Amino acid sequence: MQLLKGKSALITGGTAGIGKAIAILFAAQGADVAIFGTNNERAALAVQEIEAARISQEQKVTSFLVDVSKTKEVDEVIQKLLASFGKVDILVNNAGITKDNLLMRMSEEDWDLVIDVNLKSVYNTCKALSRSMMKARSGSIVNITSVVGLTGNPGQANYAASKAGMIGFTKSLAKEVASRGIRVNCVAPGYIDTQMTGGLSDAVKEAILAKIPLGRIGVPLEIANAVLFLASDLSQYVTGQVLTVDGGMVI
Ligand code: NDP
Repeated sequence: MQLLKGKSALITGGTAGIGKAIAILFAAQGADVAIFGTNNERAALAVQEIEAARISQEQKVTSFLVDVSKTKEVDEVIQKLLASFGKVDILVNNAGITKDNLLMRMSEEDWDLVIDVNLKSVYNTCKALSRSMMKARSGSIVNITSVVGLTGNPGQANYAASKAGMIGFTKSLAKEVASRGIRVNCVAPGYIDTQMTGGLSDAVKEAILAKIPLGRIGVPLEIANAVLFLASDLSQYVTGQVLTVDGGMVI
């Protein structure tokens, strides 16, 4: 199947983990793919992997080094991307970080950083692309939130607030732009095997595993498959929703 033939997609944080899996899957489904990240080496490697997954050599693949929390930089890079691809049909806001600590020990810097990278970034990209999507009278935006945005988690007040904020943003924007043919949804991953979770202690990993009815950690492709559904026309009557992909952690 070529669910994204003729479509152009931007995936933030496409240089690693879940974002890279989404970028590879989108290329394999026929899309032109652009990724945002901050690490030059990871970006170059990811571009190679995405190119290898293409079904046609004519599909464009490109990366931009940009900090998604910086409004002006994001705006400039998105104008460059629009000039190169001509349009962006699909936006996946996936870039994200954690800076965990109990609130009593959480610095203002770590609060601001997590809110800016995880949430302000969504404002930055959506706003920069809104004019072109509205003109095209179509588009699909998928925001990668987290089960933690639904449940909260001790030690993650900044992260949970940013992820819950993404859900409120998604529902509001979905209502604002539905009449223009643009859909906005979230995917909420549970516990997925990436560098973000690689640093957790064995005790924490065991405690999380015990709460997963399907009895295992997820892999990035399992999130990418859900994002593909929401990005493609398969979900053309779905907007403002949160699709939880977590092995049953939050039921
Ligand atoms: P990774 O740490 O593996 O990858 C994070 C990605 O975000 C990288 O590509 C990184 O690029 C990019 N990134 C980080 N900061 C910035 C920035 N300031 N500007 C641009 N890009 C940035 O994380 P995951 O793949 O695990 O997570 C992806 C998303 O999924 C995140 O939003 C995360 O919160 C969410 N999620 C993950 C879960 C999990 O269990 N793994 C569970 C629930 C949600 P670079 O290194 O090039 O800067």
